[in-house]
Amino acid sequence: MIDIQLTERQEKIIDIVKANQPITSENIAKKLQLTRATLRPDLAILTMSGILDARPKVGYIYTGKSTFNLISEKIRSIKVADRKSVPIIVDEGTSIYDSIVTMFLEDTSTIFVTSKGYLSGVVSRKDFLKNAIGGLNLNRTPIAVIMTRMPNIIVTYPEESILDAAIKLIEHEIDSLPVVKEEILSNGEKAYKLIGRITKTTITRLFVELGNNE
Ligand code: ADP
Repeated sequence: MIDIQLTERQEKIIDIVKANQPITSENIAKKLQLTRATLRPDLAILTMSGILDARPKVGYIYTGKSTFNLISEKIRSIKVADRKSVPIIVDEGTSIYDSIVTMFLEDTSTIFVTSKGYLSGVVSRKDFLKNAIGGLNLNRTPIAVIMTRMPNIIVTYPEESILDAAIKLIEHEIDSLPVVKEEILSNGEKAYKLIGRITKTTITRLFVELGNNE
């Protein structure tokens, strides 16, 4: 559990432990002129959140972790694999028209494109709009004509931290990242199997969960 909203008394306890560690709850209570029973809930919160460490027969020790450190540690510990959702995929030969229909049916804003089962492109809503305005024949033109293609696709990997994936979304100003597994083909070239996606919605949902302390 992470409790970012520390009370004034909890802050005081942290200061006392920092200055006197290791220190028993009895001695912390004495310094605050309170009873041990009164302090018990505060000490429980501080140890559960990892800010203090309770060592039996020794006393309390400050772990050096601020609540912000703890949040950052928690976010870094979450892997892309834990959060990825199902990617919406069409094959390169699919028409732009059918791809737009897929986008509506699947309620997504980014479509991934594959060729022979490997990632070959990405198409966003604006890519569709741009080309619809341009007067392309949407029924006759395959999606491959308008997609952003490899090797220009920004990808993420299952073992990457969700924080690094979020940084990629921000830095490249994109809404969605394909989650991929790298494979080496018989001709020695690298190719990516598409195993999921991370989107801005993934990150927003995680943010809400952390905010609600779920
Ligand atoms: P939109 O433009 O619809 O708001 P994005 O911001 O995601 O959606 O896309 C902007 C541009 O970046 C589009 O041309 C799209 O093809 C491309 N794009 C989207 N996702 C990626 C990605 N993961 N890697 C590289 N390019 C991408």
